[in-house]
Amino acid sequence: MNNLLKIGDINITGLTDGPNIIDPTILFPETPIEAWKPFYDIFPEYFEGKYFKVNLGTFVISNSDQSIVADTGFGPHGKMFGSKPPAQLIQDFIRNKIPFESIDKVFLTHLHGDHYGWNYREDLVDRPPTFPNAKYMVNRLDWDHWSSDQMLSTDPDDPLKRSVLPLLNDGLLDLMDGDTTLMKGVDAIHTPGHTPGHMSLLISSKNERGMLLGDIVGSPMQITKSDYPYMPDSDPELGRKTRHRLINKAHDEKMIVLGSHLSYPGWGTIITWKGKKYFQGLQKNQ
Ligand SMILES: [Zn+2]
Repeated sequence: MNNLLKIGDINITGLTDGPNIIDPTILFPETPIEAWKPFYDIFPEYFEGKYFKVNLGTFVISNSDQSIVADTGFGPHGKMFGSKPPAQLIQDFIRNKIPFESIDKVFLTHLHGDHYGWNYREDLVDRPPTFPNAKYMVNRLDWDHWSSDQMLSTDPDDPLKRSVLPLLNDGLLDLMDGDTTLMKGVDAIHTPGHTPGHMSLLISSKNERGMLLGDIVGSPMQITKSDYPYMPDSDPELGRKTRHRLINKAHDEKMIVLGSHLSYPGWGTIITWKGKKYFQGLQKNQ
């Protein structure tokens, strides 16, 4: 499948840390598992039996001057909602011939463990930063929230302690205060609710527009079922409002939407069908 997308003069490559099998009732405890049945035929790539097959996507966004990585997967440690992580991202960079040294910025949409797992080379004994020439960009609100005494676990093996907090002492951290331009045509905007400092990207070049939603949608089904209470949202009400606002904007303005947990390679459009909105993957290069 083609994993290259062009938005005007901006090139995007969709990469993945792999698919992870997750019981939907963990993510949506108030929603019976049968509620997802109508989607089995629509998104066969997203189901393994009744379970979600969650894509752990990463994007490389480049213009002629710079390259940005958006999110770095779950990595090889621990378990994600009970499942062993696939941990394929490093191999996917190599397979796509994208040198780690070519990356200027690593943009983290938010500080959940499935978005920063390969900040460091967990596959190498000395664990150097995966992107040695990059600054790692995080919204200050998420940094302050997740690194607070209240939120930080006492476990020395905590993923945040391993893969995020060291960025500060290593001189690699660049905290964003609100909306921030990352490069020409790529702007990070604050989209709170999933986490306090969650950021999305507006991508524009020539007359084309895209929006990297981040975890405003955690699966293609959530474009349709945007009201189902989503356990990972830190502020459920604000999460729902932000989800509606972004989905409507992307739909009305006919933007390409991108998201780590949309079906690989992670992009498509939002269509209306029988009065409801649906994600529709774009599989061909434009
Ligand atoms: Zn996520």
